Amino acid sequence: MSFLWIYLAVATLGSVLPTWALRTYPSNEVMKSDARQTCVQTSCSVTLLDSMSALGDLGWVAYPAEGWEEISVMDERNTPMRTYQVCNIMETSQNNWLRTSWIPRGGAQRVYIEIKFTLRDCNSLPGVQGTCKETFNMYYYESNNSNLWFIKENQYIKIDTIAADESFTQVDVGDRVLKLNTEVRDISNLYKKGFYLAFQDVGACIALVSVRVFYKKCPMTVRNLALFLDTVTGGDSALVEVKGSCVNNSVEFDAPKMYCSADGGWLVPIGRCVCKPGYEEKREACQPCRPGFYRALLTDTYCTKCPPHSFSLEDSSAECTCEKGFYRAESDLRSTACTKPPSAPDNPISTVNETSVIMEWSPPEDTGGRFDITYNIHCRRCQVEGHKCSPCGSGIHYIPRQFGLVHSRVLITDLLPYTNYTFDIEALNGVSELSSGPKQFISVNITTSQAVNVILKERKSKDSVTLAFQGPEKSNDAVVEYEVIYYEKNQKDQNYTVLKTRSTFMTVDGLKPGTIYIFRVRAHTVGGHGIYGGEIELETSTEDMIAIADPNQITILAISIAGGIILLIFLVTCFFVSGRHCGYIKAKQDPDEEKMQFQHGRVKLPGSRTYIHPHTYEDPNQAVRDFAKEIDASSIRIERVIGAGEFGEVCSGRLKLPSKREIYVAIKSLKAGYSEKQRRDFLGEASIMGQFDHPNIIRLEGVVTKCKPVMIITEFMENGSLDSFLKKHDSQFTVIQLVGMLRGIASGMKYLSDMNYVHRDLAARNILVNSNLICKVSDFGLSRVLEDDPEAAYTTRGGKIPIRWTAPEAIAYRKFTSASDVWSYGIVMWEVISYGERPYWEMSNQDVIKAIDEGYRLPPPMDCPIVLHQLMLDCWQKCRNDRPKFGQIVNILDKLIRTPSSLNQLANSSSWQDPSVQDSFTVTTIVEWLEAIKMTQYTENFTMAGYVTLHSVGYLNNSELSKIGITLAGHQKKILTSVQNLQAQGTHLQI
Ligand code: AMP
Repeated sequence: MSFLWIYLAVATLGSVLPTWALRTYPSNEVMKSDARQTCVQTSCSVTLLDSMSALGDLGWVAYPAEGWEEISVMDERNTPMRTYQVCNIMETSQNNWLRTSWIPRGGAQRVYIEIKFTLRDCNSLPGVQGTCKETFNMYYYESNNSNLWFIKENQYIKIDTIAADESFTQVDVGDRVLKLNTEVRDISNLYKKGFYLAFQDVGACIALVSVRVFYKKCPMTVRNLALFLDTVTGGDSALVEVKGSCVNNSVEFDAPKMYCSADGGWLVPIGRCVCKPGYEEKREACQPCRPGFYRALLTDTYCTKCPPHSFSLEDSSAECTCEKGFYRAESDLRSTACTKPPSAPDNPISTVNETSVIMEWSPPEDTGGRFDITYNIHCRRCQVEGHKCSPCGSGIHYIPRQFGLVHSRVLITDLLPYTNYTFDIEALNGVSELSSGPKQFISVNITTSQAVNVILKERKSKDSVTLAFQGPEKSNDAVVEYEVIYYEKNQKDQNYTVLKTRSTFMTVDGLKPGTIYIFRVRAHTVGGHGIYGGEIELETSTEDMIAIADPNQITILAISIAGGIILLIFLVTCFFVSGRHCGYIKAKQDPDEEKMQFQHGRVKLPGSRTYIHPHTYEDPNQAVRDFAKEIDASSIRIERVIGAGEFGEVCSGRLKLPSKREIYVAIKSLKAGYSEKQRRDFLGEASIMGQFDHPNIIRLEGVVTKCKPVMIITEFMENGSLDSFLKKHDSQFTVIQLVGMLRGIASGMKYLSDMNYVHRDLAARNILVNSNLICKVSDFGLSRVLEDDPEAAYTTRGGKIPIRWTAPEAIAYRKFTSASDVWSYGIVMWEVISYGERPYWEMSNQDVIKAIDEGYRLPPPMDCPIVLHQLMLDCWQKCRNDRPKFGQIVNILDKLIRTPSSLNQLANSSSWQDPSVQDSFTVTTIVEWLEAIKMTQYTENFTMAGYVTLHSVGYLNNSELSKIGITLAGHQKKILTSVQNLQAQGTHLQI
């Protein structure tokens, strides 16, 4: 019966075995371990034992002898197959053991056992109830010993009790009703070299057809260019961490590792290797770049074609070599084209002003393919133009610097007078120093000169004047003679006289009494004629008198005369305030002013109005009563707050005075809790303002002092302060409109200076603008320069001064005069033309002081007519006497307004100091850029139009700007100029 079962069991495996094939084999062969590997998709299993593939006797141990029995059968390929069966179902107390040979575990910690067997249904067998069983047990025993001949039953560890899923009831070969059962169990955490399996039968009818023992492993694989070797799965269900090693020609980018799961599959890879430079990734390997291609960085994806002017001849190139004459700077990306040094600068223009020279030039025609052009200036002192030269040595100053100039302009100062110089302007770029070729430069020859200082003016009589001169201090060439030119004021075109002398003084005779003459002097050296010094204006007296006026050398005589003048002015002032309170007046605003008047050869005639400082009143309230009208508070209607002043809010409202039309007014009020001094200072402004009556000076309507709060009422200026008004309307006015505004301010200032009032804080923020764009000078507060103005900074001498607006002599020794107001006016001009730009941008006050001292002056703002910049420069003359007077400024501006064509020629706009490309300033985003060029109102336009990075603004042009909603021509120009500047300074923009 047992043979028949086996036959049937094997038949169910798919092979019909003929009965003649059933025969037994000797049982002395040792079972060989079969380490065959089978892989399904990405997981593999390694077989340690397979009873089906045993060639000879399995040699398993069975006891007792009447228990398990080995049966050999042949399959259809005539291969012998070893099986075991037992069927002692009629007897009680069965305990039949079958033990396999020793199975090496092959490094695995967990092994799987797959058994195939048939099991007879006890119910189908008559007379076996009570003895027949339908299960058997499976055990294992771990051991390092492969030759154990006996293991005690209780030493085995039970794996499981195995029952059949399918048992069979009858033998029906034809229908093949026998069912083969397959069960798989596993054992974990094996640690000895091998183990034995055992099957315990307790009275069932079983045929054990096949036993296969295997373990699982993750197979060798390459992921993310890292090689992961075959890995046996872990003991229990733990993952095994495996480190990968980079494939050939690759390097570790991020330590590669992967986990091998318990069922022999790899989980997601972590980290990666990348191909070495010169190689690119293809099909999980690194392939070399072809000639003509390169891959420089680990982060580059593929090999790319060599950039312009470079090549690679070999396989696997990490970078391309530059063609002859082309170079790559250290900071250049390997992906950028090779470049060459620039050609020489072009079109040099030099403007010599005595011992300084401004040089400007055009950028080189050939930039060599780069945007980082800079310039170096080399100086030679020559005997003859460009010949017999020697180095210039130190002592010469270059503004902004001598080497590494970014803009094509330099100011060179402190040259020797009457000397030939040759300046070589060299153009360089980032690869110049790599080239051994000749320097690319253009030479400029200049000859310096120096004006003659007239140090003394002596009016000897009503018809003669004596002048003394001081020649050039540093001249190489001795002065041969001096030349004096003089003419009656305003008569130069008709008649002038030139006199020469070898001496350093000259008396000019034959002058008309009581007439104003202009004198100018120049030196003549062997090097040629110098330039004329500044105009000296002198008026001959009607009487003979002696006067000396030297700003540097005030003689006792001059002091005594100045004292006389002060007395005279005192009398004039008394005359002016006669009928008021002459007796209260102590002194005038600034004693230096009188000196200045005298130096200019003029004394105000009695009768002309002169400003009186409120502090000259013993009772300041009297000054208020004298100069300001008391207004009844009931005639004022306050409407809204428009600003904040030093002493309280500033409101707008209406004023209706009896028998007058209602007018709009500004109302400054004195906040509660003020001290007596604060009240005095607050009303002091009204006392000053009340003395003025001019269309370009803010008009005082009156004061409220009799009830609280104390108020100052002025005319209302609809457009507020000039600086914020200009910023708000950037680029929206014609140049004539701007000049019109400036003319108004100059006219107001002329009026103030005529009244001997020195403003000290003239700045666009202190000018108010009404609805007709009329500008009026305001802010006459007594303490304003000290406390009120946020721009004011402490100087080394202790005072607080708005440095950027203030003339150097006022900063250095508090010499505030109308001439220092003229300096401030020049700054206001610059503010107006630049639409409220901050003078000297973000430079520190200290740097401003230093730069001014070294001769630096603000460059023309964008679109500034050359004549206006020239006027600014005139206002910024170091020597205050050389600055124009406000009267002259008004005349000049009037002339410009009458002939607008004179404003057509613009100063070089490339010198617009675009803040986004200043040395100290690096913009990296669109927002930063718009902030720097003060165009933040367009941030949203850029965002909405999809401009995300600064690089993308390279695409902009006028029509694109219109499309994104920036339509003002001035704004378009400012933005596009800045784009060009960004490109020129090397910011990489897409174009
Ligand atoms: P201030 O007392 O000059 O510091 O004035 C503070 C602010 O009030 C100024 O910056 C102006 O914006 C505003 N303000 C002062 N006076 C006037 C005025 N007359 N008309 C219009 N706004 C004024």
